[in-house]
Amino acid sequence: MSTLNDLPVVVVGAGPVGLAAAAHLHERGLPFTVLEAGDVPGAAVRQWGHVRVFSPWRYNIDPAARRLLDDAGWVAPDLEALPTGAELAGDYLQPLAEVPQLKPHLRYGARVEAISRVGLDRLRTAGRDTTPFLIRLADGQEVLARAVIDASGTWGTPNVLGASGLPARGEADVAAHLEHALPDVLGVDRDRFAGRHTLVVGAGHSAANTLLSLADLAAEHPGTAVTWAIRTTSPARTYGGGDADALPARGALGSRLRAHVDAGRIRLLTGFSVHALTPTDGRVTVLVRHADGSEEQTSVDRIVAATGFRPDHSIAAELRLDLDPVLGATRALAPLIDPNEHSCGTVPPHGVNELTHPEVGYYAVGMKSYGRAPTFLMATGYEQVRSVAAALAGDWAAARDVQLDLPETGVCNSNPDESANADSCCGPAPAVQSSGRGLATGISGGLLAAPLSLLTLDAAPADTQTGGCCAS
Ligand SMILES: Cc1cc2nc3c(=O)[nH]c(=O)nc-3n(C[C@H](O)[C@H](O)[C@H](O)COP(=O)(O)OP(=O)(O)OC[C@H]3O[C@@H](n4cnc5c(N)ncnc54)[C@H](O)[C@@H]3O)c2cc1C
Repeated sequence: MSTLNDLPVVVVGAGPVGLAAAAHLHERGLPFTVLEAGDVPGAAVRQWGHVRVFSPWRYNIDPAARRLLDDAGWVAPDLEALPTGAELAGDYLQPLAEVPQLKPHLRYGARVEAISRVGLDRLRTAGRDTTPFLIRLADGQEVLARAVIDASGTWGTPNVLGASGLPARGEADVAAHLEHALPDVLGVDRDRFAGRHTLVVGAGHSAANTLLSLADLAAEHPGTAVTWAIRTTSPARTYGGGDADALPARGALGSRLRAHVDAGRIRLLTGFSVHALTPTDGRVTVLVRHADGSEEQTSVDRIVAATGFRPDHSIAAELRLDLDPVLGATRALAPLIDPNEHSCGTVPPHGVNELTHPEVGYYAVGMKSYGRAPTFLMATGYEQVRSVAAALAGDWAAARDVQLDLPETGVCNSNPDESANADSCCGPAPAVQSSGRGLATGISGGLLAAPLSLLTLDAAPADTQTGGCCAS
């Protein structure tokens, strides 16, 4: 059997963070293989290609990736511009995947089905840390690795419609009527919505984004009807601060949504939880249960589940993971990002220390590292993989010197976890020394189609609390 150090580090997923991991591993001189389920780099990003992100290019390009691209003669985009998902994939991820230092190490159509240790199930301890990882692909092939960086994201595992976290009764029976978050309502998916009645479930920006597109479609196409359902009794958090929002485009998004609701162009149902779904004459009957136990029915053609995402840890079921019971992130990372505790999206930079599991050499990074928390940013993931690659190279000083240069937004996000108390981000600081800050995203399961400008405030001292919304 190969010894550990002869083996490559396997990166699962060629999204923004997986490819950044590859760039950092290359810089560290560590052999690596990237296993990507899709046929192209950025396969998940391309699925929301019609959505314009709110973080400008300069936050979306990993520094090590940038060095490789510059060597290859890449012409960088305008760093202040806001790319769509399609532009992010086509103008950055695709050329990055093609640089000669990375290209030979990328395998497409390579879906990882399970990760274990050669000859050791989860129970066996002896020799575990020095035994290679065994990665089994969906086609049955197996790959050995010295370490695994799991950057497989969460796009493939959206949350269910049922309010209890379990599928609503009959959810599987109406699959043909259900839409993943962020369908391209005004583009390729238009025909599925034009002239139909669509129910959008969720209170985050992905719901708002879809609702605005549906309202535009309704204006062009008679017979298009839109219903919006949220769990809370008020849409205030989704509407946001309007003109008072420090992020003008985010404020405008909420204000536009409110105008449609006020004008009756979007019908709003509050205190709504999906209890049961029944296919009925080519439509769906939705049985709704209210907080007081009363029930009512409504009938629609399509349902957009804008209810967020969850990580799929099943591929790592034979590994020893120490997951936070709330978020499904590592226990050390969870308190920094738990939306029950922080309504701000500001997150301190973090690296290998916060990402370490009992399974030595396995790191979930990127979107997946956040579990069900909604505020992940590419730039955060880039710092994660810089730190992890440094640790794998044995450079612990660099691994622990986590940095993240992002501007403060100075606002709380409109986190759709409506149980979150808007003041709670001003609670005690997590016990972490940070040398930089995150950037509030205000997302759950998707971001804005409308560009947001970032507000830069003075950097706060390194060891103060991370809730930037509390700054006056
Ligand atoms: C609509 C939307 C807008 C966003 N806008 C922003 C923004 O403005 N700024 C920002 O910083 N962040 C934004 N994010 C959040 C986040 O940064 C992105 O989702 C980003 O793509 C996450 O990168 P990732 O590499 O962790 O995961 P992904 O981009 O999801 O990549 C994961 C990759 O792994 C592959 N994969 C999955 N499972 C397997 C498997 N079992 N085996 C092999 N391969 C697998 C997938 O095909 C995919 O290519 C946005 C997210 C969404 C959904």
